Amino acid sequence: MNLTSSGPAALKSFGGLDDLHALIDTVPDAMIVIDTTGQILSFSNGAERMFGYAETELIGENVSVLMPSPDRERHDSYLEHYIETSERRIIGIGRVTTARARDGATFPIDLSVGEVNLNERKAFVGFIRDLTDSKETEQQLHSLQADLAHVSRISSMGMMATSIAHELNQPLTAITNYTEAARDLLDEPNEESIAHVREALNECAAEAIRAGQIVQRLRSFISRGETTREIVSLARVVKEATALALINGDARDVDFEVMLDDADDRVLADPVQIQQVLVNLIRNALEAMDESTVKKLVISSHNNDDNMLTVTISDSGPGLDQHVAEHLFHPFISTKASGMGLGLSICNTIINAHNGKIWAEPSPLGGTDFHFTLISAKGDTNNG
Ligand code: ADP
Repeated sequence: MNLTSSGPAALKSFGGLDDLHALIDTVPDAMIVIDTTGQILSFSNGAERMFGYAETELIGENVSVLMPSPDRERHDSYLEHYIETSERRIIGIGRVTTARARDGATFPIDLSVGEVNLNERKAFVGFIRDLTDSKETEQQLHSLQADLAHVSRISSMGMMATSIAHELNQPLTAITNYTEAARDLLDEPNEESIAHVREALNECAAEAIRAGQIVQRLRSFISRGETTREIVSLARVVKEATALALINGDARDVDFEVMLDDADDRVLADPVQIQQVLVNLIRNALEAMDESTVKKLVISSHNNDDNMLTVTISDSGPGLDQHVAEHLFHPFISTKASGMGLGLSICNTIINAHNGKIWAEPSPLGGTDFHFTLISAKGDTNNG
């Protein structure tokens, strides 16, 4: 596409874009050039493939059409803020975030933005890499450094959980053996057999206590008193968690919406741990909707008037299995073939350590609402 011949008149003054475009199209990742008002000046071949739009459809449109809410509504103000203050929140920095394709699918991206002067007019160039199904996902995750340090934490918890599950087998096997022996001994009750039954039951009780201690070890490992509380932007934590949770691409057909209370964005929390909670809850919601025809996931927040903020993850899945609902947040409760049943108990431990509460109830969307509360630290919104 030749911008000089088919682009809107206002954009023609950006001379040199033809050359730039030829250059851009040689790059496999998406590159998008916008002016200072957010209007798209150029949309590379890579971007056409990634977003499903033709360049001709988007030239002159606002770049926010490529973003899910709430960035879609807020992008103009992010740009205005930068133009006014030159305060860099993304330009020259880059970050993992989410994008929205033509078909409404939300997907995780690695976005870097550079600033250029084209014919003495300022423009921004966005370089976008789709992180969905990326073979380099693991490598990418590692390069996300401190903010995403919890990834290794999750995997070390996974390893810990496997070894604990193994350890738990011992007391459970012992309990099975003792109870079977006791039952058989009761076939011909006499003084001696009753004494043996008593002994077997004592052993059972001791083994059950041992099993409880093993589980307790896991809980204290998870909450190892490492919670560092700081005032953080909930919107930012949600954005990063969302990008992470969407990384393996199973949410492409999910209608994903984030509706956070702008007026109350600041919470007192360990951002890494809260991201962990969000990633767990989002992944669970996505997995629950695997077979659903309507797939809708909404993350919302509201203030409770009691200095706490409630965050809700709602899905349109099948709702909670009854057995799971009765033991929700207990470890090792799972309906999944490969599930460890630890996600929710970890969430519970983390939220309790933050002096919050976590609970579930049927969702107006038809599936499940998971709510958790965090201490609100009222202040200015800063989600850029
Ligand atoms: P896991 O995901 O390993 O099974 P979790 O503790 O995260 O462990 O979840 C426990 C169980 O809770 C899941 O196996 C599933 O049955 C149920 N569950 C969790 N979230 C949802 C949800 N959003 N909708 C329906 N069921 C859910």
